[in-house]
Amino acid sequence: MRLMQHLVVPTFVIDPKRRVVIWNRACERLTGVPASEVIGTNKHWQAFYETRRPCLADLVALDRPEQLPEFYSEYAARGHNGLGFSAENWCVMPKLGSQLYLAIDAGPIHDEAGHLIAVVETLRDLTDQKRAEMALKELATKDGLTGLSNRRAFDQMLMSEWARAQRTQKPMALLFGDVDHFKLFNDRHGHQSGDECLRAVASVVSKHAVRPLDLASRYGGEEFALILPEMDCDAACAVADEIRRAVMALRIAHGADGAGDHVTLSVGVASHIPGEADGSPDRLLGAADEALYAAKRLGRNRVIGAERLLAEFAGLGRDILPVPGRIARKSA
Ligand code: GH3
Ligand code: MG
Ligand code: MG
Repeated sequence: MRLMQHLVVPTFVIDPKRRVVIWNRACERLTGVPASEVIGTNKHWQAFYETRRPCLADLVALDRPEQLPEFYSEYAARGHNGLGFSAENWCVMPKLGSQLYLAIDAGPIHDEAGHLIAVVETLRDLTDQKRAEMALKELATKDGLTGLSNRRAFDQMLMSEWARAQRTQKPMALLFGDVDHFKLFNDRHGHQSGDECLRAVASVVSKHAVRPLDLASRYGGEEFALILPEMDCDAACAVADEIRRAVMALRIAHGADGAGDHVTLSVGVASHIPGEADGSPDRLLGAADEALYAAKRLGRNRVIGAERLLAEFAGLGRDILPVPGRIARKSA
């Protein structure tokens, strides 16, 4: 008992009826909850969470490893009635007023007859490590200038969404947006203003990735790509046109010779219908890119859907047909 009181590791102990019997100093410091408030009660959860739920020690006392996934983001059950459970998660810590990411171990203590006499729970504060890990992940997946997903994250998401579309047999759409005459914009207004312009356009693009699995990314310099799962070409073209209009509505002055008064966006749209024999992520990318190129050649500030490509070009002459082979993109 004494020993545990002064242990530097935040520790508490519950009895088989799940009442707190020990709540050591380190646990008081970690949680901001004094032992006097919890000893003899089963209110230990209040130190960690806002709404009633079991702590890891409770799950050990109840021997319910099957509930670990319900309550923890990371977990391990180390053997039935054996060494107990380990878990990690964000805890609200109501008394502290700031969240902590805790690594938790809870192990049972049995008497000689094998009856449970107590469960010991120890806690480690991994908040700093977790935040560092999250920051690294952010760095690895986000574009520094715009905060959108970077090319790497886009490539990964395209593959995983593609696989999901194959499984679920739902369509998926891809949008490629490219700022019109952006080289001229930089030449005229400077690179700094160019960066600001890209940030503004990016925020418009990301506002249209509203569903949980939609992904807005900065594909390259002044190119943005949007993955819209479970969307067909028509619906995706409608989204693309909203984006195009929203970029116009920013009314960012352009005015360079050969460009319009304001910054505009061209968008190519392609969608994949599962079951297409020759479908692949690369083909989808190629089709969206081809549609974007067609939008440029037709005069910019417009949306072209790959499905409509041939119809759009009917009667317009061959010179504006997308050049075959452009699918192999110039480096972005
Ligand atoms: P188009 O209408 O055909 O798309 O013409 P464009 O001038 O937009 O296309 P082009 O590919 O010739 O030029 C893209 C320009 O984007 C060139 C490059 O300097 C600029 N750019 C790329 N990345 C950045 C960036 O991070 N910041 C700024 N300010 N400019 C960038
Ligand atoms: Mg470009
Ligand atoms: Mg451009």
